[in-house]
Amino acid sequence: MSFEKLGLIKPLLSAISELGYEHPTTIQKRAIPLVLAKSDIFATAQTGTGKTAAFGLPILQRLRKTDARADRAVKAVILSPTRELSIQIFEDLDNFAKYMKVECAVLVGGKDIISQQKVLKKGVDIIIATPGRFLEHVERGLDIKSIEVLVLDEADRMLDMGFTKDIRKIHPLLPKRHQTLLFSATYSDKVRRLSKLVLKSPAFIETSKKNSTVDTINQVAYLVDTDRKAELLAYLIGSRNYPQVLVFTRTKVSANELFVELQKDGLKCGLIHGDISQAKRLKTLKEFKEMKVRVLVATDIASRGLDIEELPYVINYELPSVPEDYVHRVGRTGRAGRNGEAISLIDIYEKFDIKEIEVVIGQKIPQETVDGFEPDPTIRRKDQDEIKLKAEHKKPDKKKVRQYNKNTTGMLTKRTAKKRKTTKRDPK
Ligand code: AMP
Repeated sequence: MSFEKLGLIKPLLSAISELGYEHPTTIQKRAIPLVLAKSDIFATAQTGTGKTAAFGLPILQRLRKTDARADRAVKAVILSPTRELSIQIFEDLDNFAKYMKVECAVLVGGKDIISQQKVLKKGVDIIIATPGRFLEHVERGLDIKSIEVLVLDEADRMLDMGFTKDIRKIHPLLPKRHQTLLFSATYSDKVRRLSKLVLKSPAFIETSKKNSTVDTINQVAYLVDTDRKAELLAYLIGSRNYPQVLVFTRTKVSANELFVELQKDGLKCGLIHGDISQAKRLKTLKEFKEMKVRVLVATDIASRGLDIEELPYVINYELPSVPEDYVHRVGRTGRAGRNGEAISLIDIYEKFDIKEIEVVIGQKIPQETVDGFEPDPTIRRKDQDEIKLKAEHKKPDKKKVRQYNKNTTGMLTKRTAKKRKTTKRDPK
């Protein structure tokens, strides 16, 4: 299957060929013809599957076909949960539209609204925005009556981040006959409810096993004592000569602490979390992409949507508090068929968390130790009872897991069922 066969026009084919795209990914094969045919779409796809091009290319093609180029009214709006992802989408679209006369603008919070209004006045075809800022512009008089396409990218994340109200406000303001494309990594109740509100007879596209990690990622967990994690991290980066690593922490506090520790170890580091200014975050991301910064320490805010080409290593310094976020974090590596490695540094307190993650992804993550960093059993013994209690208390809610499996693909359900059967047979 080629991009030509999907019906894309020459200017787009030339642009993507220059970007090195040879064959469409699964989501692109399925979504492009549907978007061109003006169908609403509900797609479950993770970042890394090529979903930006899956909606970006046909939208650009659709806009070129309209004859209202002269008036340059806004024809498409792409809403995404974070500033970073919005900018990423903008950059991708800008690359795809290299040989087309289509103007895109990115409207994100944290930037001066007046200068954004000035850009809008010159006329743009496509807006990429975070929901709050887009709504602000609409309330200040942005003309949206010509909008033909609405994209809700990473809808689950937008809902988790509290954008439900904004999206519900925006939707009725759009023209009645517009096309809506909803992309979500997960298939939660919240997303289902939103889809019922915004989609009309949508085509369903399911490209990946939901909440399962990408096949090209090698996953491993290293057992280590809490107070030796930073040391192990620096050792792994140094001894294995990792050139570019994205490291996740659970909280802003530990991100700050780790950032200081790693700098002390002589590693060039960057830091991205919610308390860092937008300008600083973008500067750091740019430096990381240009490999001026070797280690990027980030909290989960950065875990979605960041498109860093050929990122080979992701390290979970701490496991995420929500198991599903593990999928989003490790989705930063092994993108578009490339190999990647996801390493989790787990202490004794996280042994239960990793089990929860394994239930969600339907895969076992091998646990190993690194020579010289084996956990010390003597110090930890007194904590064992406490941890056991915690694990007892936190046993996966069977009803929740069953419901979850019902909502996900047959594959995961079957796999989980098989696993359950095996566990029953094996008394160990
Ligand atoms: P996305 O899921 O849109 O964030 O895309 C993930 C990565 O895959 C980005 O670096 C894209 O540039 C790249 N990509 C998307 N589609 C293709 C394709 N058909 N062939 C090769 N790379 C692609």
